[in-house]
Amino acid sequence: MRSIPRRLVAAVALAVALPLAACGGGDNGDKVVIGTKFDQPGLGLKNPDGTMSGFDVDVARYVAQQLGYTEDQIQWKEAPSAQRETLIANGQVDYIVATYSITDSRKERVSFAGPYLITGQSLLVRSDNTDIVGAESLENNKKLCSVVGSTPAQHVKEKYPGVQLQQYDTYSACVEALKNGAVDAVTTDEVILAGYAAQSPGVFKVVGGTFTEERYGIGLKKGDTELQTKINDALVKMEQDGAWKAAWDKNLGPAGLPAPQPPAIDQS
Ligand code: GLU
Repeated sequence: MRSIPRRLVAAVALAVALPLAACGGGDNGDKVVIGTKFDQPGLGLKNPDGTMSGFDVDVARYVAQQLGYTEDQIQWKEAPSAQRETLIANGQVDYIVATYSITDSRKERVSFAGPYLITGQSLLVRSDNTDIVGAESLENNKKLCSVVGSTPAQHVKEKYPGVQLQQYDTYSACVEALKNGAVDAVTTDEVILAGYAAQSPGVFKVVGGTFTEERYGIGLKKGDTELQTKINDALVKMEQDGAWKAAWDKNLGPAGLPAPQPPAIDQS
């Protein structure tokens, strides 16, 4: 190494590094990779034509725009509940907007901007069901579906040990199991359940009210305070200029949920 002129070394290093950045390796150059759900109507949904829709998707888009990216520069990546911390820690996504509750244990591996929405855990049952009215009724040996790596599954394990909990990879798989009778109920956040109920009118109903508080944050690399501040600023702007309310009305209004107050940002 010592015999090679330093300037030459620098030139070669640049020549190697530049094309890598340009084609999306390393820092991902001109793209932003956003993790979201692909199977949650009203929140994060990949439509049959390949387009993305939902409240989380619109929040993610607004933030991307504020960070200086155009729609074409967004690359969507599916972020199932159990994989979110790993996707962020491995640098496979720049940030995640995916019904992602801010919790202390998750904060050990990732940082959060937000909260941008506050909801709570609830129950989805078939519309002809009459004996499941709340979480307690499930302790009577009912089969309940939730998702691996989610806060609702964790909560049920801790608080309702008498429930037969089945953990699937996605909520859409749970809803399918509910439809065909393999389980008696599905549990997760009320907004998610309302989205599924609206997708199949007359088939399901949301029951039991909300019995936890879920504060949705945007997950990002642990300790990246610069990005965290930029995303918080974008969220404040989105709440103030009416885009937040518009995104709610467009995506979750059809599910029959009135728009709540947008939460104060930077309380994560
Ligand atoms: N908000 C809860 C969580 O982050 C449930 C929804 C989900 O699994 O995406 O675990």
